[in-house]
Amino acid sequence: MSNAADAAGASRLRVGGLQRWTSIDFPGRLAAVVFCQGCPWRCSYCQNPELLDASAGPQLAWDEVLRFLDGRRGLLDGVVFSGGEPTLQPALAAAMREVRALGFEVGLHTSGMYPDRLAEVLPLVDWIGLDIKAPWHRMDAVTASRGSASRVLDSLLQVLLANVPHECRTTWSPELFPLHELHSLTEELAALGVRRWRLQQLRGGSLPQGAPWRGDLALFGARFEDFEFRAA
Ligand code: SF4
Repeated sequence: MSNAADAAGASRLRVGGLQRWTSIDFPGRLAAVVFCQGCPWRCSYCQNPELLDASAGPQLAWDEVLRFLDGRRGLLDGVVFSGGEPTLQPALAAAMREVRALGFEVGLHTSGMYPDRLAEVLPLVDWIGLDIKAPWHRMDAVTASRGSASRVLDSLLQVLLANVPHECRTTWSPELFPLHELHSLTEELAALGVRRWRLQQLRGGSLPQGAPWRGDLALFGARFEDFEFRAA
């Protein structure tokens, strides 16, 4: 695609916000975060409810984002597209190409709900943080959306087959689904070939306590090359 075509396509990206600097959202990289507007799911614990409405107008024009990034060449390593759900937007690939043309690496935070768009952008992505919100049979309940499990599984398999550096992330507390199902999920992810898994405590949710929970964490750690638990 030509640069002019990319510019026209990317300008349609609805940007809900811009974080100008982060050292934690793209592993090993200093990055800016572009928050994309819109997400059709309704997870009860969503931290960015202002980004859910796909019909909301952009808070920032894509051209302004590009101008900012142009001035950060040599200072930032990468740009992370986050949300909302970035793969909701047809303009994502063009925006990523423009970011790459400025010399930045591209990161993507996604919940995997649009496997076809993920396939389109995979060749443009250097790292993916993929949310696996629940065991497959629980996914619809956690996302409040029908048919979400098959989409996420399709996306996960694409990421694994493409061998794109990635991390899978799961937010959990026993209020979301029981501990034995969390164990089943870890076994399934490890069997599929996931190597990096982040488990984060649901904000405001409880946690099991004591030695049994430490044993659970040790078991999770043994299943992945790289495992981290983040308490809320
Ligand atoms: S998928 Fe992400 S952005 Fe969408 S509702 Fe769930 S937590 Fe919020």
